[in-house]
Amino acid sequence: MENREERRQLRLAQRKKQVQRQKILIAAGGVAIVAVILIFVVLGSRPKGEQKDIVATPIPDQTTSSVQKVESTVAEPAVSPTGEPTPAVDKTEADRRKLIELDPDNREWNFGETGEKVIYLTFDDGPSPYTPQVLDILDRYGVNATFFITAQRPDCFDYIKDAYDRGNTIGLHSYSHEYEQVYASEEAFFEDLEAIGRLAEEKIGYVPAIIRFPGGSSNETSKLYTQGIMSALAPKVNEMGYQYWDWNAVTGDGAEDVTAEDEVKNALSFDQNTIVLLLHDGDTKENTVTALPEIIEGFKNQGYTFKVLDRNATVVHHAIMN
Ligand SMILES: [Zn+2]
Repeated sequence: MENREERRQLRLAQRKKQVQRQKILIAAGGVAIVAVILIFVVLGSRPKGEQKDIVATPIPDQTTSSVQKVESTVAEPAVSPTGEPTPAVDKTEADRRKLIELDPDNREWNFGETGEKVIYLTFDDGPSPYTPQVLDILDRYGVNATFFITAQRPDCFDYIKDAYDRGNTIGLHSYSHEYEQVYASEEAFFEDLEAIGRLAEEKIGYVPAIIRFPGGSSNETSKLYTQGIMSALAPKVNEMGYQYWDWNAVTGDGAEDVTAEDEVKNALSFDQNTIVLLLHDGDTKENTVTALPEIIEGFKNQGYTFKVLDRNATVVHHAIMN
């Protein structure tokens, strides 16, 4: 259901890469032209016997140094991939709770960027039978994520508390995750949101303020059920003290046929300072579990810090389309 937005994000990232590649090609072309001109100038003033040496030197040097430059900006690790895990929970439970809990009187959110490279891993649709594996991988790398939960798998509900206790943020996604029900009316939406809020409260002791709309705030599927509902809901949830997060990067795992290899490639094609990466924790998302270690390693190698969504995190909103 989130596929359309994901495809758009992927296309954007791929276009950006293409433009970057074109720029590198143009730069390389420029270097080659300059080198050829130099060769002609030098050739004109030198005896024939020295031609070979002159041709061999300038072109490879220039090309190598420009390639190295690109690599070094990408590969400089601010966090060692094998480095010590950062403490999962370094604040008291009360402090942490203040940053996540729904409080109608507290509408402090961060719409700015820190200028630092930060990635927020966000998993929609869980808990699922894969949640324990996801949590173990996160622990292994000493990073945390945000889980936007649903009530689709009652047999997995205990993983909600497990995820929270291990330093991850619990956000609200949807109780039923049935678009037809959730977007049938504003009332229906809030009934569903309150139901998933109660489930979270049962497991972690309070209702989180952090939410993600099914399909994201830009979804157009909701048009099928209620015209204009996203435009009405977005300000309303904020008035009630909730904050919704969309995403600005995807692995493409909303589609059923994406390979783990492609998920890694897709995820690592994003390189903006603040990354909110959409992932899925669902019954059919085994490839995401397979891809996760490489995704984490890739972003660590690029110097990103991993954080959870809370009142300090940069809010990312899509444009509303319905
Ligand atoms: Zn979802």
